[in-house]
Amino acid sequence: MLRHSKRGVPIYEILRPGEKIYVCSALGHLYSVDQKQGVARRAYPVWDLTWKPRYQTEKRQERLQTWIEQIRRISQDADCFVNACDYDIEGSVIGAMVLKYACDGADQSAKRMKFSTLTRKELQEAYANSSAGLDFPLVNAGMCRHEVDWMYGINLSRLLTDSAREYGKVYSTLSAGRVQGPTLRFVVDREEEINCFVPVPYWTIETVIRVDDSTIEARYEKEKIDSKYEADKIVADCKGESGTIVDSESHRSKIYPPHPFDLPALQAEAYRHFGLRPSSTLGIAERLYLDALISYPRTSSQKLPPSIECRKILENLSTLEEYTTKISRILSQPTLSPNEGQRSDPAHPAIHPTGNIPRRGMESREHKVYDLIVRRFIATFGEPALRQSEKATVSAKGYSFYLKGIRILTKGWIDLYEPYADFEEIHLPPLTVGQDVDITRIVRRDRFTEPPSRLNPSSLLKLMERQNIGTKATRAGIIDTLYDRGYVAGERMTPTPLAFNVIDVLRKYCPKISETSFTRELEEMMQDIESGKEQRELVLIEAIEHLRPVMAELQAKISEVGAELGETIRETRLEQITLLSPCPRCSSKLIVVRNRQTGKRFIGCAGRWKKGCTFSLPLPQIGGLTLLRKPCTKCGFELIMVKAKGRRPMISCQMCFMEKRQGQAV
Ligand SMILES: [Zn+2]
Ligand SMILES: [Zn+2]
Repeated sequence: MLRHSKRGVPIYEILRPGEKIYVCSALGHLYSVDQKQGVARRAYPVWDLTWKPRYQTEKRQERLQTWIEQIRRISQDADCFVNACDYDIEGSVIGAMVLKYACDGADQSAKRMKFSTLTRKELQEAYANSSAGLDFPLVNAGMCRHEVDWMYGINLSRLLTDSAREYGKVYSTLSAGRVQGPTLRFVVDREEEINCFVPVPYWTIETVIRVDDSTIEARYEKEKIDSKYEADKIVADCKGESGTIVDSESHRSKIYPPHPFDLPALQAEAYRHFGLRPSSTLGIAERLYLDALISYPRTSSQKLPPSIECRKILENLSTLEEYTTKISRILSQPTLSPNEGQRSDPAHPAIHPTGNIPRRGMESREHKVYDLIVRRFIATFGEPALRQSEKATVSAKGYSFYLKGIRILTKGWIDLYEPYADFEEIHLPPLTVGQDVDITRIVRRDRFTEPPSRLNPSSLLKLMERQNIGTKATRAGIIDTLYDRGYVAGERMTPTPLAFNVIDVLRKYCPKISETSFTRELEEMMQDIESGKEQRELVLIEAIEHLRPVMAELQAKISEVGAELGETIRETRLEQITLLSPCPRCSSKLIVVRNRQTGKRFIGCAGRWKKGCTFSLPLPQIGGLTLLRKPCTKCGFELIMVKAKGRRPMISCQMCFMEKRQGQAV
């Protein structure tokens, strides 16, 4: 194989008997949706769209022009074209657009390669078995999604941004979109639920019982007691008393191995064990896929068809020391069949290792995700685990208490999936009916019902999946946008005042945008294009007809919308630059400000104008500044963090810094 590099664009040349193949890459999308020529950049509403080279529609994409030129140059002499982009909606669109626009309409005659891993063997087979004609249902479904999303995003975002500028007198880029709206609404709705939550008191009983020489925590028959009086009576009646075991039972059950990973399951598991955001997990999985270490990750399949030759993969992986023993156990089993789940995917199997051995050293997070995928793959072939649950009932003074135990009798697949399988065991001593026991401790606990917990990126992703909004390819990115736009903060996602306001505005003036039902409806129509039951043009028209009245309504009330948004944006900004610690001299608020003449930033006192307070603290001038909302352990003043490009973030207390400097001066 030869590698040419023309003006920075790599092109590979493969010679085969009777043919010469050129392979060129696309660098993601080379074409994207944009408004037609002659429409002003900030105008709205816009309904006419077209596909254009991305270097014309986005900033800093100039090199894509050279890319397209080189593809065009090499396409001139070609007499056969194959789209070999990732086999999924995006890959189908990327390839089709390049063939259509850069290769003079070659999309009409091109073939399509279909593959799930980048191993040499599979790529060669996929090339030999390329299908005649592109996968147009997938292409159309993908184009339609880009077109509809562009239409919603551009119109709503332009209108909101413009309203805030014209009527709210603040410049801030606001965004709203077809999927983003409902997603943000999940977070806001949850926060409202939490805010409206009224805690209700209840009581529980904590009991410790001694059986022979062991002490065991016991559960009172009722988990929640509604009256304090009742709880106190139980404690008074049973304190220091003894009881009798009146019943003891146990039963065995099988715990089946986990299903092979689809993308959401991988994302959830990586979040649970490593705290990785869904988008990070996807990014890492994609790198592993590009290295031909795992199969294509954007899949919703929980199945491993025989064609992927699991035995061979396991044999290859067993050369890696850490998996050798586990794999030899699997291979010695009489049969080798994975515990497949219900979900399937027309294009790809479940995520699995290819059996290729990692050649390069992996970065720590890559290694974690790879290890998780390998162990999950191995575990899914394991034998069921056997669990025994035991329950004994103690009767004392007419009350019942339960002793509960769990034992894993046979570990089966649990052993294979360690350290990612965690099953708690509680061992009970031997118990016999009629045996006397002592209550060694019994106390009342005062409790309150708890509000629902905040969403985190992983649970939000699952919620989007359950509600069928977005796709497995786009969900993680949309969650990131919520953070980037300042709509949510924190790992436990808390909506900012701006998020409440945007949702309020959308709810008030165009409820359809933030409603899940409408988004889901469109989603279903787009899935119908994929299966050939719906036409792309008709879905686009339908989407426009939904959006048109919404835009009209928003425009009619644009001054109110803008005023409301402007107010919140100003408040949010002021809050962002105000320190939690007050001025030590006059106790007014301290704010991060800039000197008008020098442009230098510093911490100044808001009491300057009214009280003439001149207190100030210096700040580092280079790097992004964050108020940490955490006190200094020495003096209690709010800590700041400065992050300059290419450097480690620096956390400091400016109050301690000043005192040290003054101390040195004296
Ligand atoms: Zn002051
Ligand atoms: Zn300090």
